[in-house]
Amino acid sequence: ERVISAEPRVMEDVQDRAVRPKSLSEYVGQPVVREQMEIFIQAAKGRSEALDHTLVFGPPGLGKTTLANIIANEMEVDLKTTSGPVLEKAGDLAALMTNLEPGDVLFIDEIHRLSPNVEEVLYPAMEDYQLDIMIGEGPAARSIKLDLPPFTLVGATTRAGLLTSPLRDRFGIVQRLEFYNVADLTHIVTRSAGLMGVQIDEQGAFEVARRSRGTPRIANRLLRRVRDFAQVKGDGAIGQTIADQALNMLNVDERGFDHMDRRLLLAMIEKFSGGPVGVESLAAAISEERDTIEDVLEPYLIQQGYMARTPRGRMVTAMAYEHFGFDLPKRFQD
Ligand code: ADP
Repeated sequence: ERVISAEPRVMEDVQDRAVRPKSLSEYVGQPVVREQMEIFIQAAKGRSEALDHTLVFGPPGLGKTTLANIIANEMEVDLKTTSGPVLEKAGDLAALMTNLEPGDVLFIDEIHRLSPNVEEVLYPAMEDYQLDIMIGEGPAARSIKLDLPPFTLVGATTRAGLLTSPLRDRFGIVQRLEFYNVADLTHIVTRSAGLMGVQIDEQGAFEVARRSRGTPRIANRLLRRVRDFAQVKGDGAIGQTIADQALNMLNVDERGFDHMDRRLLLAMIEKFSGGPVGVESLAAAISEERDTIEDVLEPYLIQQGYMARTPRGRMVTAMAYEHFGFDLPKRFQD
């Protein structure tokens, strides 16, 4: 298990409740998203209407679920949560939707994993607030139509390209979350530490922040582990030195890379002369799933400029060679 995995852990959800922002003003960073959502929410409230359906996409741990909760809070409505893989039958979705009150938010995480027959029920529901489903089977089967109250669907997905276009087209608002910069993450770590009653100084927060892969979920997790270290090895307060020692012990380097990142970059350099290499060959070389490379490993490495996606495959950049202390190959030297 990677300490820097962006996926949530089972217990983490509970621990996280204390630090999760509840309003747009507490939502750190993402200035474009925040400004737009503030206006859209205020306008919808002013008209006493449901907010338009909103698609939020971006890598795991960047605040999609948090944003869905904030939308419901700011709209002063209830939120019902489900996810693409959980909705097996059209009836599962119908049961949820018939329980919505006017203006409520229905949050569907991993919306790209809806089965086609469930997705089809969603189209008229999103467009006209109409539920149109088949009941029963064989000759007794009949279709029924029900009016739904106006509601807001908030869908979350890691990559917008994973959605079918009819589904994507039915969202009036589309927000893309970006990796957070170190200043914003420092702010998040400081805020979380405050809420957790942990003493941390600016340099300590900065050290945790810059090793968190641009991801608030990872920042909060590293903070909890550094807190343990500070409590046992120090006096409980977190400064730069304690944070650095704790993160070294966790095998997270000063760029936020761990053994999996290093293995990927080293394989590209040593086995494929820096690329270009197809993602399938790369997956085979490091014995990982292709999806793990595409969703978990490479987004941050690309964003940080250590590798690139080209039409001919993945390539490492000069920065990757320098990171490992290798001489630059000729093609980088002119
Ligand atoms: P996702 O749904 O994209 O995987 P979450 O919304 O569950 O991510 O975010 C993970 C955790 O990171 C949240 O519970 C929250 O504590 C923290 N977080 C996310 N976005 C922000 C933000 N903008 N400001 C402060 N904390 C955040």
